[in-house]
Amino acid sequence: MSDQVAPGVIFRRIHRELNAIYFCVEGLERLPRQLKAQQNRVLAAEKTKTDTADLLKKNKVEQHKTEVSLKQLNTLMEKYLRQQDESSDPKVFTALSHEVATTKKKIGDTEDKVLELMTVIDETAPKIPELEKIILKAKTDLLAFEKEAGTKKSDLDSLLVEHKNRLAQLEPLIPSEYTQGYFRTKKATFQDCLASVEDKTCNACQVTITTQMENEIDDNRYVTCKSCGRILYQPGTD
Ligand SMILES: [Zn+2]
Repeated sequence: MSDQVAPGVIFRRIHRELNAIYFCVEGLERLPRQLKAQQNRVLAAEKTKTDTADLLKKNKVEQHKTEVSLKQLNTLMEKYLRQQDESSDPKVFTALSHEVATTKKKIGDTEDKVLELMTVIDETAPKIPELEKIILKAKTDLLAFEKEAGTKKSDLDSLLVEHKNRLAQLEPLIPSEYTQGYFRTKKATFQDCLASVEDKTCNACQVTITTQMENEIDDNRYVTCKSCGRILYQPGTD
């Protein structure tokens, strides 16, 4: 059987299988990484929402406290003003004037703080439903990915078996004098142990080959690239 197929043809077919196996393995390895990334998107979106909700709550508590202080300061102010009205002692009047000034300043500052907090709250509150939408979208995407990944995995698994089987049928066809070289480079570089040749150029390292090598490749004989060491073959569809 082996003497009926030229090495160049066998290696061309083998390379196709090795590339396909590599594609399947890479795809299968990528799936868990992609899944992890989708799960992280959900976690990140949930964390942003929790942090924003916490901040909103904190600011609302702070706003309430500040409003209570404002109310107390206003009551105090009324008290000082009343005492001033009722006071006939100039010393007491002056002392109360200081208190009024200090309290007035405090009231102004507290009003500013209330306004500031209200602005922050007004800006933060609408973000919550937006963030909830982002979480929902990330969760929907994750579910879709999980479903898709399941199908993709079983497709790749069966493709992998198919190509491995084909490779297992092709490798015994390699003439015995070339098997050692083939398996050695395959062990080191897998699908990179072979390269096609076009326009007298190795498709892997782009180095020009000799005319003699080209003739041998055209004859489907065993030829390796002098530059990269790959086993060379003529492209084809068989
Ligand atoms: Zn090369």
